[in-house]
Amino acid sequence: MKKICLIIGHGQYKKDKNGQTYREPGATNPHNKYTEFQYNSELVPKISEKLKGQYEVLIENRGNNSIEDTSKINAFNPELIISFHCNDSENDTATGTEAIYYPGSVKGKGLATIVSKNVSAALGLKNRGAKEPWQGRGNGLLSRTKAPCIISEGFFIDNDNDLSAGLNKMNDYADAIVKSIHEFLGDETVQPNPDPVPDLDETIYIVKNGQKIGEIKYY
Ligand SMILES: [Zn+2]
Repeated sequence: MKKICLIIGHGQYKKDKNGQTYREPGATNPHNKYTEFQYNSELVPKISEKLKGQYEVLIENRGNNSIEDTSKINAFNPELIISFHCNDSENDTATGTEAIYYPGSVKGKGLATIVSKNVSAALGLKNRGAKEPWQGRGNGLLSRTKAPCIISEGFFIDNDNDLSAGLNKMNDYADAIVKSIHEFLGDETVQPNPDPVPDLDETIYIVKNGQKIGEIKYY
């Protein structure tokens, strides 16, 4: 079974000035305080559930560290890696979907192009397309991973309209990621949750003129 790695962005454990441990949640909507970490903690398990029976999935997070455990991810040897974040802008009016790839990675750009196209269509937002890292964001992960790796920035979490689309269409977002994985890996014919392989431990006898002349055994 092919392997896929999905990453929930942010959520790194940090200590505040009083020594209290807290999870770093990433960008936050200024009105309802919804965070990147919160959103992607709901989205990623949904995607993983849909991939069950088709791919072996590793879900990763930064845990106590400032970047994900890329040694562990590389040892898992996935076909592709998608790290889930949400975008954020200074003026709260920017909108749309984009996906970030490591500069010069042809496969990364291909995957980012597919994901941005499908996710923007699913959320009904503008497709901003595949982009190289802006001011090096995500480079720590993108540069250390062997498999094609991208960052999905599905929408701007500080834009109320974008966040509504993200929340109301989370299931469509998850479907768009499954579709993108199929498209990138050429697995369009892979059916979700296929029936288990039937037990074929049976023998078919080849008979000619009433005489058994051979047998075929299925396992
Ligand atoms: Zn982020």
